[in-house]
Amino acid sequence: MTTDPSWKEKYLQELDAADHREKQWKAERNTLERMLVRTSLASEGQTPELDKLLARVRQDLRKGRVDVDAWKELQDQIDRQVALLDERQSAGQERRSLFSRRSPAPEPAAPTLQEAPPATAPGDSQDIEDNIQRLRIARRVGQLLGQMLTQVALEPAAEARARSLQQSLLVSNDWDELREGLNHVAELVIAAVTRSKREFEAFLKRLDERLNVLREHFATQSSAQTGRLQASEHLDREIREEIERVGQKLSESDDLADLKHSVTRHLESIGEAVSRFRSQETERERMLSEQLETMQQRVAAMEANSEQMQEEVRRERLRAMTDLLTELPNREAWQERLAFEYNRWQRYGHPLTVGVLDIDLFKRVNDSYGHKAGDRVLQLVAREFRERLRNTDFVARFGGEEFVLLFPETGPDDARQVLDELREHVGRLPFHFRGEPVTVTFSAGLAGLVSGDTEESVFDRADRALYQAKDDGRNRVAVSSDEGTGAGD
Ligand code: GH3
Ligand code: MG
Ligand code: MG
Repeated sequence: MTTDPSWKEKYLQELDAADHREKQWKAERNTLERMLVRTSLASEGQTPELDKLLARVRQDLRKGRVDVDAWKELQDQIDRQVALLDERQSAGQERRSLFSRRSPAPEPAAPTLQEAPPATAPGDSQDIEDNIQRLRIARRVGQLLGQMLTQVALEPAAEARARSLQQSLLVSNDWDELREGLNHVAELVIAAVTRSKREFEAFLKRLDERLNVLREHFATQSSAQTGRLQASEHLDREIREEIERVGQKLSESDDLADLKHSVTRHLESIGEAVSRFRSQETERERMLSEQLETMQQRVAAMEANSEQMQEEVRRERLRAMTDLLTELPNREAWQERLAFEYNRWQRYGHPLTVGVLDIDLFKRVNDSYGHKAGDRVLQLVAREFRERLRNTDFVARFGGEEFVLLFPETGPDDARQVLDELREHVGRLPFHFRGEPVTVTFSAGLAGLVSGDTEESVFDRADRALYQAKDDGRNRVAVSSDEGTGAGD
């Protein structure tokens, strides 16, 4: 029997799909980790002890090494700090809840970080400051939760809970309710990570079941083959024995009539054996073809399922790699591309330049014209980056108003020319907010890869060059001057 070569392909495809699934899981995990980092940043400023613990959370996440036992302890410490905060707050709760009742509810559809402070009696100014600060944190977490929901697929019940949680974070003025909400965000993040893991495990289980089906099929085939071999040996033996008996009779008997009768009988026995064998063979073939058909149906279903899964993975992956606001590649996509170009650089040694770019005094745009205007600036600037850079160059949003760039086959001086042109172009863009013309500029730092560089060391040099450009007065591009000391600090 020959083995259909497509079995092997199927097996490889399954492995491929498993690989994709794992990558998707990693991307989801990344998003959740970033969410955790941002949430912890947003929760800062309560007490120095809590800030220290949150900084440790971020540090562990950045290193990519999360020791579950150590984290349990960390979580206990954070819980203790939060409980302490609760106690402290319950002392002033009476006054605060009175205050919350007085504060105006912000617009749910347009969450903004710049609510006007509510009118209150003099003397409450510290409380008001605290409350505004907390509301600001809650709004920000609400926005981040919204972003997370567009990037991570939750189970319907969890999704509904997250949506209502997001609403309450965006509109509620009751600090107790908000604090409760922030706790739920942490639970949701944990639930989503667990779900991704469970899904991946379920996928592996399905894959294992399919491989078992294939194994069973091969086992049936080979036992059918053995059965066929035994049956034809049996037939051979039967025929040989009957012929031997005919030969014996021939040598023993002189009676022609008796001989004729005996030969006829043996021939009949042979005929019966052959027809028995034929009908067994037909039955065996019928069974095999039935099995084959069942197998083909199963494989067709498997193929359809796997195609659908691959499409889903492809879509999820694209979503996980794209920044929602600017539609540029995001930080995960950047890490992947940097690793790719870095490997090429190591292999072929062609020039490669890394850039870090930051919008100048962006906080002023937000403060003067609102967060939405800031978002619009980011979108428009990102569009210019995308349209004006070469296809072979790469630009991603690193976070906030920071962007990162890769210029393959380009040294830092040439990359500087490209960025200077882009900078002048962006500086001339006719932004208008509330009827006022607004100029947007950026500063950038560039560093070319040099022998001994790692992905981190070249990035650090470009980042330092950016800060040099800021120090030198902004709206300029600086090239790292310390090439060659590139092994990092
Ligand atoms: P510098 O020239 O030194 O870079 O000044 P800057 O004001 O740009 O720098 P800073 O880091 O102080 O402020 C960055 C601001 O960018 C603060 C933050 O609120 C804002 N920001 C970050 N992400 C977003 C976003 O997605 N949308 C909007 N509208 N603002 C954002
Ligand atoms: Mg910045
Ligand atoms: Mg800036």
